[in-house]
Amino acid sequence: GPAPEADIEARTWLARHASGFGHFINGTFVPSASGRSFDTFEPATGNLLARLASGDKADVDNAVGAARKAQTLWAKLPGHARARHLYALARTIQRHARLIAVVEAIDNGKPIRETRDIDVPLAARHFYHHAGWAQIQETEFADHLPVGVVGQIIPWNFPFLMLAWKVAPALALGNTVVLKPAEFTSLTALLFAELAATAGLPAGVLNIVTGEGETGAHIVEHGDVDKIAFTGSTEVGRIIRERTAGSGKSLTLELGGKSPFIVFDDADIDGAVEGVVDAIWFNQGQVCCAGSRLLVQEGIADLFHKRLKRRMQTLRVGQPLDKCIDMGAIVAPVQLDRIEALVKQGVADGAALHQAKIEMPKGGSFYPPTLLSGVQPTSIVATEEIFGPVAVSMTFRTPEEAIQLANHSRYGLAASVWSETIGLALNVAAKLVAGVVWVNATNLFDASAGFGGKRESGFGREGGREGCYEYLKPKAWLGRKLRALP
Ligand code: NAD
Repeated sequence: GPAPEADIEARTWLARHASGFGHFINGTFVPSASGRSFDTFEPATGNLLARLASGDKADVDNAVGAARKAQTLWAKLPGHARARHLYALARTIQRHARLIAVVEAIDNGKPIRETRDIDVPLAARHFYHHAGWAQIQETEFADHLPVGVVGQIIPWNFPFLMLAWKVAPALALGNTVVLKPAEFTSLTALLFAELAATAGLPAGVLNIVTGEGETGAHIVEHGDVDKIAFTGSTEVGRIIRERTAGSGKSLTLELGGKSPFIVFDDADIDGAVEGVVDAIWFNQGQVCCAGSRLLVQEGIADLFHKRLKRRMQTLRVGQPLDKCIDMGAIVAPVQLDRIEALVKQGVADGAALHQAKIEMPKGGSFYPPTLLSGVQPTSIVATEEIFGPVAVSMTFRTPEEAIQLANHSRYGLAASVWSETIGLALNVAAKLVAGVVWVNATNLFDASAGFGGKRESGFGREGGREGCYEYLKPKAWLGRKLRALP
């Protein structure tokens, strides 16, 4: 059943902020300059969860001013001193892991099992990993300087983990941050700000401004921001690219995807069926690199779909704090409507609809595990991101046809290949247009492996050495080098 003590701790924390949350600027919580606020709701019940400050231009100005002031001192610290702060943040996350996991599950609707075992530990690992880069910054990146003040805008699907992916490398390498969480899921960012202040992070190094898209736009437009790092939809990514063109700001974009999940007829069928569960029903399918296009070789298609449907029947959809569930709630009613509309369109385009006949929770935004099969590659459900628990399946005959189908997309974020013939799997993997290819696996991440897309999935990498370079700018010290010549 639900986790009782952490639930009480989380509800106490929420009750403490019952009058509303402010922005976190220069080390303290402050109300919006305009006094404006907006409400955030609990996906599993639809109940009001908290009142959040709505960030205006004046709030963004204040946050950027604080970040600018702090940046000089922060960048002057030796790498090992910044590393100490990152280690402290990592340990703080671990110490408060349960509270963060519960708040995240309540705010986003995702299962506590996932926030507890995935979102929160991976976030801590991200801070540990980047503490390591800070340690060796002077020698590893001798000819690089921090970018400066970084504006970071993140989505709602992995609110805390996306914060870690953005904040850890930025701070490690000497930048300061103004971050805007997604409007549906701002709570773990505010909780993190509170914990970071307690852990001794200097004022102004991390600033959080809450608000809707308009608040993000103020950050993008701000003249004293040196870089924008954005994760979200391709549509908004395109707007940000246009708005920053010619401004001198650096930009990284982590956008949408429609990743292929290719099953060859010699695959371990049960393993691949479990893979589909992780690929498309993990986090209710609200995953940018979800294996949402299931490509199955014709010879095993019937058997594979039969086994998959049997497995779907055993998935449990329920309350996020129930440890026994596989799927929680969809983040917001507007997303639920979008999923329903796209599935309806898929059926109108000729796909066969299969939904698990399982008990569904009452109230809140829930959607059952869904499979659309016999989908035409041109149907909107095969080309557009559904961002819900909907697998879209097609068949192929030859490896060439699989590659062609897989690459028939405007996106190029991830791909997954299933075969017991390693030569076949690796040959196919090499020909797929994707930032990451998993073989007999899916949705694996590590702080040391640069993650990012191709095509309209964006550019830039997060994690590892490549990710560090996104928060540095090269500087050639020609004079010094010339003097060093004999
Ligand atoms: P979204 O683009 O609507 O919103 C993302 C963030 O941008 C939010 O914080 C939002 O408030 C802000 N925003 C909206 N309009 C803005 C504007 N004009 N200027 C500045 N900021 C603005 O996306 P979403 O619905 O929150 O997230 C879902 C999308 O994110 C999916 O398409 C998914 O694939 C993508 N995603 C990608 C990755 C990746 O790493 N590639 C990871 C997670 C999610």
